[in-house]
Amino acid sequence: MMGARQGTRSLLMRFLSYYAGQTHLFVADLLCALTIAGVDLAFPQILRSLTHGLFAGDASAIKPVLVYLLAGLAGMYALRFACRYFVIFWGHVMGARMESRMRQDLFDAYERMSLSYFDRNKTGDLMSRLVNDLFDISEVAHHGPEFVLIGIVEIVGSFVILGHISPQLTAVMGVMLAVVVAYNAYANWRMRAVYAESRMRIAGVNARLEDALAGVRVTKGFAAEDLERSKFAESNGAYLDSKTRMYRAMGRYQAAIAALMGALCTVIVVGGGWLVAEGRLQAADLATFALYISLFTSPIENILNFTETFQKALAGFARFAEVVGTVPDVRDAPGAPDLRVSKGSISYRDVCFSYPDEPDAPVIRDLTLDVAPGRTVALVGPSGGGKSTTCALLPRFYDVDGGAILIDGQDVRSVTQRSLREAIGLVQQDVYLFDGTIAENIAYGRPGATQVEIAAAGRRARVDEFALAMPDGYDTQVGERGTRLSGGQKQRIAIARVFLKNPAILILDEATSALDNESEQAVQESLAELAHGRTTMVIAHRLSTIRDADEIVTMEGGRVVERGTHADLLARGGTYARYYRMQFGHDG
Ligand code: ADP
Repeated sequence: MMGARQGTRSLLMRFLSYYAGQTHLFVADLLCALTIAGVDLAFPQILRSLTHGLFAGDASAIKPVLVYLLAGLAGMYALRFACRYFVIFWGHVMGARMESRMRQDLFDAYERMSLSYFDRNKTGDLMSRLVNDLFDISEVAHHGPEFVLIGIVEIVGSFVILGHISPQLTAVMGVMLAVVVAYNAYANWRMRAVYAESRMRIAGVNARLEDALAGVRVTKGFAAEDLERSKFAESNGAYLDSKTRMYRAMGRYQAAIAALMGALCTVIVVGGGWLVAEGRLQAADLATFALYISLFTSPIENILNFTETFQKALAGFARFAEVVGTVPDVRDAPGAPDLRVSKGSISYRDVCFSYPDEPDAPVIRDLTLDVAPGRTVALVGPSGGGKSTTCALLPRFYDVDGGAILIDGQDVRSVTQRSLREAIGLVQQDVYLFDGTIAENIAYGRPGATQVEIAAAGRRARVDEFALAMPDGYDTQVGERGTRLSGGQKQRIAIARVFLKNPAILILDEATSALDNESEQAVQESLAELAHGRTTMVIAHRLSTIRDADEIVTMEGGRVVERGTHADLLARGGTYARYYRMQFGHDG
């Protein structure tokens, strides 16, 4: 309980920190809110003076006053109008700015996370935090100061004025309001869990949707639409259930508040009538009383509704703060220098590794591997043997559990991630193209590259061959994730990126198995040119491509089982020789 309260407090502090930089707006917003409250409080008083005159039967005295009244009221309401405009417009803008900053902060946090974070979290859930969870927060951000301040001033002001008119009635009212406030606190406490659940459920719907859309080709291929529909219906139904629970709680709450406010009005009217009958209250004062009650019931309702929205926003903000507060698994050491690549030698020393979510299942065991500058090492072996993981450790996508990986004698953990990754070029099996043109996708390799440099990289990767045949050339849109291009074309764009980047070290995850012969030939030639003069680690799927590798390393179950040149390994007649025979049916 204590922990939860402290958690809420630090959440609040974090929330308030987003007002920073907008102090002038915030103060102006509050001043306008105060003015509105002042005008609202003054009106019943003015009316009271007027009705006192009326009830005193001195109607002739009223007429001359009306001119002043007209001028005064017109001025007051003009001021109220201006303030209202300010509060609505600038208040909302202030909230929207805060929301925008939070959204940017959340996105920045995602960009900062290590890969392990994305292994653990579903894309749809992460998107939901960015889109849905921040929604209520901006409402709270601007209604907060306005409703709370106007509300408090109007309620306290009304109480003071009413206390003057009739202390007895005001005391009764005070007791009843205390009951309302206590009930509100209790209801909010109960509703918080319901709101948090509903946030989680909508995130579930988004995650399901993301999964279904990303896998739509598989779904169509297996005619599995019904399965996807029923999986989606399940998440959707769970969300509906949680929303139903939320609205039930909301309904109970709002109805109870309405009943309590009704009881308050009844007590005041009946009690006030009794006081008038007793001669202890003037009829005009009872009318004023009723006016003040109607004046402050709306701020009370606003504040109560606000606390409810606040709970919703807090549930969203908690999910936001959780991400922003997550420390990435892979971090730069304090004051880490940049990697200085002289020749580009790679050295794995007794490396041990297991994925963070499965710490008891080692994926790499005591791996020692050296790649001399400019040389090529090929990793082969059964799938699941640890080849991709070995390569993922070099750019520090994950940190090793034991041992070390050195580039030109520098531990990859001791240098900045940026400089490390700038030195390494990756060509992966699954090419990801961003929405945009072919040229833009190549330029990803080196932001700021000129058109000439992009074209040169494209030529070397043999992108020219297909791009120039398209009507828009390099300005052809690739479609979402490159759907308008073939596998081989995407591969060549990925290779062009790395040509442009021009790193000293290369990691190639050969994807040629998915390509037709002609594409494979083109991709192979581009890859061979790319690897020329660079220190290269290749994950080989087709053994024909690695015959000339300086060393071939066979991995199984995260261990090196054999190493040597193609000729050595064939002569030894071990695992590699067996693989080779399986693929080619003969030696050599
Ligand atoms: P290979 O590239 O030789 O096929 P991998 O390095 O991809 O092998 O996989 C080695 C082992 O690590 C496999 O057992 C695989 O299930 C596991 N693995 C791979 N990626 C992850 C991941 N992101 N999280 C957890 N386990 C993983």
